[in-house]
Amino acid sequence: MKKNIISSVLFVGILFLISNISIINNKEAIQTMKLEKNNSTTLNKALESQNFKEENYYQYTEINYIDKENFINNINTLLALKYTTTEINDIFQNVNDKNISKILESPKLDLKNYYTIKNFEVEKIPRYEEYQQKNNCSLEEAVLKVNIGLDHNFYSEIHQATELNNYTVLVNKYNSLGNYEPQDLKSLSYNSKYQLRERAANAFEELISFAKLENVYIRPYSAYRSYEYQNTLYNKYVEKDGQELADTYSARPGHSEHQTGLAVDVWSEGYNYISENDAYWLQNNSYKYGFIIRYTQENQSITGYIAEPWHLRYVGKDIAEDIVDKNITFDEYYDLYLKN
Ligand SMILES: [Zn+2]
Repeated sequence: MKKNIISSVLFVGILFLISNISIINNKEAIQTMKLEKNNSTTLNKALESQNFKEENYYQYTEINYIDKENFINNINTLLALKYTTTEINDIFQNVNDKNISKILESPKLDLKNYYTIKNFEVEKIPRYEEYQQKNNCSLEEAVLKVNIGLDHNFYSEIHQATELNNYTVLVNKYNSLGNYEPQDLKSLSYNSKYQLRERAANAFEELISFAKLENVYIRPYSAYRSYEYQNTLYNKYVEKDGQELADTYSARPGHSEHQTGLAVDVWSEGYNYISENDAYWLQNNSYKYGFIIRYTQENQSITGYIAEPWHLRYVGKDIAEDIVDKNITFDEYYDLYLKN
């Protein structure tokens, strides 16, 4: 019995010694590594870090250093997911932080086609690929269309619009304003019953004055509309034409740009429509005052509305000019240049 106890104690003691020797050896190895001359900032930072992993020693030397939080830890995770050092460099160089945090949580992905596409979102990759196959289009186009929501039917997947008070708020058949009400509405001089948010109202007055100088006479006939008002209006149209048709020319409540206080419909003075000439003038001039023609013949498949040459949406001068230059819808512009 005693013998057994003695030999057990001896055995544990020996184990303890061996394990200590190997700890000492590891520490020595790391010390030697630290002393070795190397030109790799990533390796040097890794050696200073709590997260240094001996087995990644040579990989660190192949990764370009970026001054980012958790950089070494994230490298370790990507290496454990079996990304090569070339892929890791590509990821850190081309992919935004939001996507990187998703990549760290996913099984290994093949991202090489996405490095040049700035607006892709990791969690939507299966949808992009499905859309691309179905529509036989470029990956860039698939990313853009899926980000807008166009791989799902209009109104089938609705998100709450963000930054509701921004002049660039996006509202469409996928983004709802809920019961948002702008706080800075201002009456238009033409008739106090028409209101826009202050900056849009001022820009609109300027636009109308400038138009007069060019012998174009236009007037507002609808501006800010509340959620409740849009609800009444939409239901009236549904009753008259049925939902399918009403949806092509009237927004469902919460989805109207008029609820932002940034959209105004205009008619030619003395008429209950916009003349072709005046519409043409607006198309070529309204951007100078910060307004875009939001719904056109060409962009129906994206907006889901018939052409509305009378509907002006305020976005601000610089952005309006840029949208006209690029000749794209506001929905596309928002995804490419504004959402981040
Ligand atoms: Zn309108």
